Amino acid sequence: MKRLHLHDTLSRNRCEIFPEDGEKFRFYCCGPTVYGPAHIGNFRAFLVQDLFRRVIELSGIKTLHVRNITDVDDKTIREAQKSELSLVEFTAGWTERFHQDAKQLNMLDPHIEPSAVQHIPEQIQLIEKLIDNGNAYPSEDGSVYFSVKSYSNYGKLTRIDQRDLMAGAGETANDADEYEKDHVCDFVLWKARKPEDGDNYWDSPWGSGRPGWHLECSAMGMKYLGETFDLHAGGVDLCFPHHENEIAQSEASTGKKFALHWFHNEHLMVDGSKMSKSLGNLHTLEDIHDRGFSAAELRYSLLSGSYRTKINFSFDRMNEARINLKRIANLVQNLGADLPSYEELCERATFESMNLGSFESSWDALLEDLNAPAALGELFVAIKPLEKELAEGNVPEDTKKANLHGLALLVHAFGWVLPELESEQSSLDVPDHVKDLAERRWIAKQEKDWAESDRLRDAVIGEGWVIKDSKDGYELEPS
Ligand SMILES: [Zn+2]
Repeated sequence: MKRLHLHDTLSRNRCEIFPEDGEKFRFYCCGPTVYGPAHIGNFRAFLVQDLFRRVIELSGIKTLHVRNITDVDDKTIREAQKSELSLVEFTAGWTERFHQDAKQLNMLDPHIEPSAVQHIPEQIQLIEKLIDNGNAYPSEDGSVYFSVKSYSNYGKLTRIDQRDLMAGAGETANDADEYEKDHVCDFVLWKARKPEDGDNYWDSPWGSGRPGWHLECSAMGMKYLGETFDLHAGGVDLCFPHHENEIAQSEASTGKKFALHWFHNEHLMVDGSKMSKSLGNLHTLEDIHDRGFSAAELRYSLLSGSYRTKINFSFDRMNEARINLKRIANLVQNLGADLPSYEELCERATFESMNLGSFESSWDALLEDLNAPAALGELFVAIKPLEKELAEGNVPEDTKKANLHGLALLVHAFGWVLPELESEQSSLDVPDHVKDLAERRWIAKQEKDWAESDRLRDAVIGEGWVIKDSKDGYELEPS
């Protein structure tokens, strides 16, 4: 099979994706910070990473995918304190919600999902190493900072001007988890305990406190993937300071290259604007359902643009997703057989080169830097004549088979969940126990019992039905 070529943020070149160890492609994705529901901008990043992994695996390469859970940082502690739950209880609830949303969006589970709180000793060890190497220093209050001046490659990912760097380094130290690019500064590895942290602190050689946010990804990435691994991914907003700091603390501790390649996706815009709390456009999956759309339609929509450009989300565009998914489902039905499974295709790709029928150019477009708009363009160009020939009954069986194969590759790469095409009559025949679940879910929702409402919605999905909410009611449709 042909291999994926991807734009590497670090080298600024397009590189071929293959496992350095010849066995598994090892990659790390910065995961969710679990202090509230993830919004569609967060999901754009995770879905792009899911597309990336699927394309690699469908090319016959095995992967080792690590995605962390950030369950201790400035935000999780602040919100847990407000909720009056312990940090562990608070973050466990939001982690569960993230998992439910990820499942509905048909995201593959990472092979390993470590959390920061579960890796405090590893983070302390990393700090000790950095102090021994002369790259970190304890401050008077019991915090520990990374000395940016001590690491000459600082800024190589975002190409920070060395003059700016030298002007800022060593003069300012910052203990916030997030800060702007024009504040290049010594960043915090260990934060001394503060009164507002409440009970959320751990013992360390420098006194009680907690790790700084940037440290966890270095410690957990190297623990599970090795000191050097194939690729590191995240949203473009994480380039600075998060990824720059990850590189500095990892490479200063080992003297080896950290991630060989870096993969960043652009922001999502909503109705032409940046996403922000004040504009009220941080839509969650719950909002998408409330507007009558499904997770499958959201997934289609968020993956329809190039990951390297900003894309605009609007509810109008969700209708296009619905129409396109139905059209693809129709074609699969007319090709007259079930799609081969994801696992089957990955397995076959390891051994065979496949005839992809009319869909070869669409797959090729995906292999060129995950060019989704080009792949979708090629797909619909291929679909049109095929639909006509199928309607006329002119397609030989082996051509049908190749097309089914090609189409399956794209359906699984994009992770599309195709709608069931049933007659209007049978879609109305909702079994009584499903009606009952849906009714109880509606009541839970009115009472704002979100956990129960989510649980019942999932139960309905488990029965093969989807609840489409409207302003003052809901409808059931086959999923
Ligand atoms: Zn990270």
